[in-house]
Amino acid sequence: DSFPLFRPIHARIDFDALRHNYLRTRELAGGARMWAVIKANAYGHGIMRIARGLSTLADGFALLDLEDAVRLREAGISQPILLLEGFFSARDLPEIAARKLSTVVHTAEQLDWLESAQLPAGARIPLFLKVNTGMNRLGISPAQVPAALARLRAWPHAGPIGLMTHFADADGERGVDAQLARFAPLAAQFDGPVSMANSAALLRFPQTHADWVRPGILLYGASPATAYMTAADIGLKPVMRFEARVIAVQQLQPGDRVGYGGLFAAERSMRIGTVACGYADGYPRHAPSGTPVAVDGVRSRLVGRVSMDMIAVDLTDIPQAGLGSVVELWGEHVSLDEVAQRAGTVNYELVCALALRVPAVEV
Ligand code: PLP
Repeated sequence: DSFPLFRPIHARIDFDALRHNYLRTRELAGGARMWAVIKANAYGHGIMRIARGLSTLADGFALLDLEDAVRLREAGISQPILLLEGFFSARDLPEIAARKLSTVVHTAEQLDWLESAQLPAGARIPLFLKVNTGMNRLGISPAQVPAALARLRAWPHAGPIGLMTHFADADGERGVDAQLARFAPLAAQFDGPVSMANSAALLRFPQTHADWVRPGILLYGASPATAYMTAADIGLKPVMRFEARVIAVQQLQPGDRVGYGGLFAAERSMRIGTVACGYADGYPRHAPSGTPVAVDGVRSRLVGRVSMDMIAVDLTDIPQAGLGSVVELWGEHVSLDEVAQRAGTVNYELVCALALRVPAVEV
């Protein structure tokens, strides 16, 4: 029985799929080196686990938390590790230097903090200067780049200096053109490493590949641009399979209602299964009746409102299913993207929201 806890729910994490996706992404990225983006607990898949799964493949890892970066170093990960939001005060810099981490620099204040940091002689920190080319989230303006680069180059602890930006709509209609037009002249005059592409840009706009790409969602086997292509179109395999068992069965007469608010009414005589998975496990509360699930490998549907710890699924046309049946919430038979679309969200949010109480099983 691969359900490790008393309560039968788990997320199966498929290492072969992970490595397959890495290699497929590398194919798509041409010759660019790849930061495997493992922020947000590796998009809910477990940061240490995913780093271990990619430790012999990844050119580097990108994440947010200094604490996570330290844990990766302590686990023996020796590749470059990039802090995507940089640091939050000058106090972080000695640890960043000691752990040989690379950091983004995206504000004038961070430049000040670098210059005020007390570091051992000989300490060198690789830096990526982030340029705001239109997303207006992080980054200095293109006009400030020459002065910022001059300051970085003059800083005695600067390691290699790179230049990066991030696209707001690489997965949408606006694409990358306007931002690329602001970034390209800077990159053309720059002699260090350049990084632009997230998964969607990597996939749709090869002109953004440059020296380093920063794929996240592709590695986990989901599409970054579901309006244009599915994960299967891209040749990806889902890494996470989210499953729970049926823990009760109910027989319904026509007109009987299911769950809070009685949102679902049986159209006919029905058999439904109550499944040990709810929104406190990370299943989206806004998934409506009809959202696909798979029961013992057969596709069926959610009925009624998602509860904190349970959902109900239709077993009427699956006579062999019953107590103990394994219900796949997403993974192999039901794509993450289908569930996200039904629930009015994105694949990213679903995996990131997987609850800590759901145990992972590595396969
Ligand atoms: N680069 C940066 C700066 C990011 O913030 C992110 C995530 O949002 C990524 C890369 C990876 O994005 P994706 O998962 O779409 O590839």
